[in-house]
Amino acid sequence: MTSHDGRAQARSHALFEAARRTIPGGVNSPVRAFASVGGAPPFITRAKGPFLYTEDGAELIDYVGTWGPALIGHAHPEVVEAVCKAAADGLSFGAATRAEVDFAELVCAMVPSLRDGMVRLTCSGTEATMSALRVARGFTGRHKIVKMDGAYHGHADVLLVAAGSGAATLGIPGSAGVPPKVVEDTLLLPHNDLAAAQALCAEQGDQIAAIIVEPVAGNMGCVPPAPGYLEGLRALCSTHGIVLVFDEVMTGFRVARGGAQERYGVTPDLTCLGKIVGGGMPLAAYGGRRDIMQSVAPLGPVYQAGTLSGNPLSVAAGLATLRIIERDPPYARLEALAARLGDGLVRRAAAAGIPLTGNRVGSMLTGFFRAGAVTNYDDAKGSDTARFARFHQQMLAQGIYLAPSQFEAAFVSAAHDEALVDRTLDAAAGAFAAIAGA
Ligand SMILES: *Cc1c(COP(=O)(O)O)cnc(C)c1O
Repeated sequence: MTSHDGRAQARSHALFEAARRTIPGGVNSPVRAFASVGGAPPFITRAKGPFLYTEDGAELIDYVGTWGPALIGHAHPEVVEAVCKAAADGLSFGAATRAEVDFAELVCAMVPSLRDGMVRLTCSGTEATMSALRVARGFTGRHKIVKMDGAYHGHADVLLVAAGSGAATLGIPGSAGVPPKVVEDTLLLPHNDLAAAQALCAEQGDQIAAIIVEPVAGNMGCVPPAPGYLEGLRALCSTHGIVLVFDEVMTGFRVARGGAQERYGVTPDLTCLGKIVGGGMPLAAYGGRRDIMQSVAPLGPVYQAGTLSGNPLSVAAGLATLRIIERDPPYARLEALAARLGDGLVRRAAAAGIPLTGNRVGSMLTGFFRAGAVTNYDDAKGSDTARFARFHQQMLAQGIYLAPSQFEAAFVSAAHDEALVDRTLDAAAGAFAAIAGA
């Protein structure tokens, strides 16, 4: 076994060179390119439990977990078996199956806001959030939607608005190719700022179809909800007839069995799920209140569809994964492991004289390279990203695979154990010492 240092990653370098000739940036999703931390990304040959294996023969302890899905570790034998069995019976029918009914019943039983409601499957979180907002607009007959600064809800045009902070600003596209007209009904609020949401709703509440929020923000790094924030949004939406959408694509089945809504006891009208719900296969979902979901075609006038939606392989992976979670809930163990990791990182950073703010909810966590609380995107952006980049390189060289951005959460899986966490902390102590002077 070799570590992933500069000399030992010749194959990944060569593959990255080749990839860049035919794939934009060499990757099929931008952050995989390691642009913000430098170096070539390791190319992966296989994954098992808490480990990734690279083209260069390195074994990496994985805290990316395929960006969230790998709650129970990679390639769980029961999940792999379920997918192989399903594959043998045909990859896709474009027609209804028994497994979809079983799966819908299980998802609705596990997630509080779906308990007496309905759920529709899609192939990506992007489709789930895009569709939930279309449904909210169709149901309310209103056009405006509200999202929080720094929140990521996938790459649908209407949600690709990241710019702006402070008071609610009219949407400015966060990507070329998004016409300003398309996002002019997308309003921005600072995350965790209930007073700003109240002020906006007092002014325009009767024009707002939906407020969409990551109940635990994960795409600016892990940022827990301020006390009373989710409850406040809930009350505001009820008062103004606004559809409250929790984007639990990352937090669903992650921060609790029933997601952040269970953990914090706040029930949204619609919920978006993804990542873990598909057990590593392309599958996501949106659902919630029955009266709202009855707007979806063919029951109602809001069109939403998908050739591969609810395909048997994805459903088999999702069903097997959720059944394992139901049978053997990993949450107490995950909480303890992630606390050991998060607290340990903060202590080791302090010992090296490096300011580090540790945010954690359950098994998702981020160490921000700055002093002081991180409660929103502006706080997160105050981190020393150059220092993070050096830390990332040091960790990777020691076989620890972290997301290559300061603004991502790390995930602990049920396949990790205390020994792996302690190995990670030893590596971190070395990494902090190495970057302390710089
Ligand atoms: C990952 C993510 C999405 C997008 O999901 P994709 O499957 O990548 O399209 C949406 N919302 C949140 C909160 C996410 O973390």
